[in-house]
Amino acid sequence: MTASIDFYDGRSARRQGVVLRLDGDRLCLDGEAVSRSYPIDACRLDEPLGGAPRVLTLPDGGHCEIPRTSGGADLLAQLGARLGTRDGASGAVARLQRRWTVALASLVVTVAALAAAYQWGLPWAAGIVAPRIPAALTQHISDAALSTLDRTLLKPSALPEERQQALRSRMAAVLGPPQGGAGRPAYALHFRQGPMPNAFALPSGDVVVFDSLVKLAGSDDEVVAVMAHELGHVAYRHGLRQLLQSSVVAYAVGLYLGDVSSLASGMAALVLEFRYSRDFESEADRYAADRLRQAGLSPELLGQILLRLEQNQSTHSDERGTLLASHPDIQARVAALQALSP
Ligand SMILES: [Zn+2]
Repeated sequence: MTASIDFYDGRSARRQGVVLRLDGDRLCLDGEAVSRSYPIDACRLDEPLGGAPRVLTLPDGGHCEIPRTSGGADLLAQLGARLGTRDGASGAVARLQRRWTVALASLVVTVAALAAAYQWGLPWAAGIVAPRIPAALTQHISDAALSTLDRTLLKPSALPEERQQALRSRMAAVLGPPQGGAGRPAYALHFRQGPMPNAFALPSGDVVVFDSLVKLAGSDDEVVAVMAHELGHVAYRHGLRQLLQSSVVAYAVGLYLGDVSSLASGMAALVLEFRYSRDFESEADRYAADRLRQAGLSPELLGQILLRLEQNQSTHSDERGTLLASHPDIQARVAALQALSP
């Protein structure tokens, strides 16, 4: 059970060849210029790391490197039995498993923390910041978004001017004058030709209604019901909140990828998709239901046009940018609106 072992005394980097020997409770170390012995229980045999020599740490700060082959193996087996650590693959596997468990656990915790920040932290922060964005900046963002859309996706309305005026008058009669007031947001009504029946509101209160939505509606009051829903998004600042959240994510991704210009394209994509969360849609629906009831109209008007949109959608399912994508769970929303009706 003797073998030539590399010994380092812990004070110099010099390597010395020694012989290690177990003698009862003591470990004896003998070399040309050194002769020591230690209580075996005060020594520590490190866990194996790949095929590297095992390191035996000595109580005086020195250490030995014991090869895993050629004589070292016998010594390691005895030391391992004595010091309670297992030699060879089983020890390595156990250590590796512990490492993986720790790594997986910290990965899970990290992902959960990021998900929580995304799920709750970001919307919370956006909800705080959105109302503090100055009106001038809100208008600027909205104008930029509308002119981008006018260049890329939208065409001027083909509705006759008197038809547009009639809808403006009806909107004012039901939802109040465009300048807002008494907690109601100011608004401006625009008509455009878009790729499918739809309407959207920009954070400034600019409500854009597509000609095809007017044609699809069973009555002007159904169009007004959609406008009321869009004003709900304005009143609760859903657009700004969504924009802030997406921008933070886009900015973080941009930083990570080292490409901050992706922020700009992220914003453009958001404006083009005008997609809201389910909570935002429900909130806007309830807002619309309140406004319609205050004007003596039934919240079911909104449910009716939602069903028309869904029906129209299912026959034109190949078109891009669907209102169904921005208004999920139509059936659930229609049921909720029925429940809100007198
Ligand atoms: Zn909506």
